[in-house]
Amino acid sequence: MSGSPHTYAIAMRTRFRGITVRQGMLWQGPVGWAEWSPFRDYAGEELLPWWLAAREAAEQGWPEPLRDSIPVNCTVPAVSPDQAHAIVSTSGCATAKVKVCEPGQSLANDLARVEAVRDALGSAGRVRVDANGGWSVDQASQGLGQLSRFELEYAEQPCATVEELAALRIALARRGMDIPIAADESIRRAADPYRVLELEAADIAVLKVQPLGGVRACLEIAERIGLPVVVSSALETSVGIRAGLALAAALPELPYACGLNTVPLLADDVVASPLVASGGMLAVTEVAVDEQARHRCRADEMTAEFWQARLRQTTELAAARRG
Ligand SMILES: [Mg+2]
Repeated sequence: MSGSPHTYAIAMRTRFRGITVRQGMLWQGPVGWAEWSPFRDYAGEELLPWWLAAREAAEQGWPEPLRDSIPVNCTVPAVSPDQAHAIVSTSGCATAKVKVCEPGQSLANDLARVEAVRDALGSAGRVRVDANGGWSVDQASQGLGQLSRFELEYAEQPCATVEELAALRIALARRGMDIPIAADESIRRAADPYRVLELEAADIAVLKVQPLGGVRACLEIAERIGLPVVVSSALETSVGIRAGLALAAALPELPYACGLNTVPLLADDVVASPLVASGGMLAVTEVAVDEQARHRCRADEMTAEFWQARLRQTTELAAARRG
């Protein structure tokens, strides 16, 4: 590591994944800036892939890109149909990901929201839904059966477990329904995609660079599992998003829009020109931390100490692994 690591803390515009403030570390290596921002509920060994991803960014850089801009989806939270329509219409994106199965809401809410999104996109647009594992197999089969009238691109993590996803695929096939299933939360560690493949639990794999150990590690997973890949973020700053873009740019096939337009979920960013989509596309451009922005996003002393200790433990663990 050539530059000393900086800890950032940036408020989320809306609560996401139960967090209101995103935190992490940034450092500059010989070839570029790296972000290391494992969520607070990761610990010990689980932090290593995130660290390997940061090391790749700082010391190795990216594989040759095959494309210079990446299509991305807009995200529609569990809002009213009117709000959903407005989000999609103003996004410039041809693909929308719609949250369904929100606690406290009904299938009728989901149907109204997805209908509004389909209306806003027109017939050429693509609509995917994300249940974040909230449905049982029966509920998913019923829910998707009704939502299918809006022509879904795919359903992301309709049920919580890999076994349930596999059972759902069978149930849908029996009903003659052809809705691809994407695994997101089921792919958290590097071994998970192979389990998804083994149980035939999904048609599409959502891959995130940091938890899976870097861009090259993800390219290897993609090649071995042979499923189409959707690259998503782990809610990073533009520095971490740049790694996701590198993966999306290097994949031999990119049939789906990616979930990389998440910088707008943060109230601030550490670069001068944040990686925010324009016309539904994110340009694959270089990023550098801006000193003023970094100062603005600087974490308080206690948070910085937590992250310094966490990084120290992780580099020690990595060194022990290498033996
Ligand atoms: Mg998801």
